[in-house]
Amino acid sequence: MKRRMLLKGAALGMAGGALSLGWQQPPAIAGVTSGSAQWGYTGQTGPEHWGELSAEYQACQLGTHQSPIDLNGAIVAALPPIRLDYQETPLRIVNNGHTIQVNYEPGSTLTIGDQTFELLQFHFHHPSEHLVQGKAADMELHLVHRNASGVLAVVGVLLTAGAENPVIKSIFAAMPDRPGPEQLQSQVTLNVQDLLPADLGSYRYSGSLTTPPCSEEVSWIILQQPVTLSSSQIRQFASLFPGNARPVQALNQRFLLRSP
Ligand SMILES: [Zn+2]
Repeated sequence: MKRRMLLKGAALGMAGGALSLGWQQPPAIAGVTSGSAQWGYTGQTGPEHWGELSAEYQACQLGTHQSPIDLNGAIVAALPPIRLDYQETPLRIVNNGHTIQVNYEPGSTLTIGDQTFELLQFHFHHPSEHLVQGKAADMELHLVHRNASGVLAVVGVLLTAGAENPVIKSIFAAMPDRPGPEQLQSQVTLNVQDLLPADLGSYRYSGSLTTPPCSEEVSWIILQQPVTLSSSQIRQFASLFPGNARPVQALNQRFLLRSP
């Protein structure tokens, strides 16, 4: 299985895609509470302590292919094209205590080369987790996908202050202000495609979940072109989540690639 994963990493155009922890069960998806140890972004349960909070979170401390990273020094390369086929979905929104997450109905896919991943959910970080030349963007959007083998692919979109974002407006209007179960707002529908920039030029590297258990089986695709939202929309999210970004991790023996 490990060898197959390595080949897949190669097929994705990502050198250094080895799964240093070997095959694991599909991990809890970013931010979903799974009954494991409590974690957060500050103090004794903050990112520098995640690896000590539970044996399941060891990769947070010991992993060498961790995310996020500074997107600095990327090597320009011809990358396998990505294709997005996202459908409209009713708004299923949850405040899971770590972020605001929108769960997606089955049937929306991301294709990288000849591999297809299904979109599971998207969620937000404030400020951005990935840095560009050492600098954080105001926020970052993560679209989490999984293929039939349990391998994850996350598309990251940097969000910067500018024009108001109408799609984010409809999502933030429905944000539960306290952690709780998913809420279905069936009168609101959206297509996450409308949250993406026109240009799909990207950075790509092999990394991890940016939340415990920090599992290392994530193909990262960070779009180079940011998308805007208004300062007041940023403040609206920050009022619930003042800081939910993991600090950047060492690149170690990995290649960071970018499309021309
Ligand atoms: Zn995330």
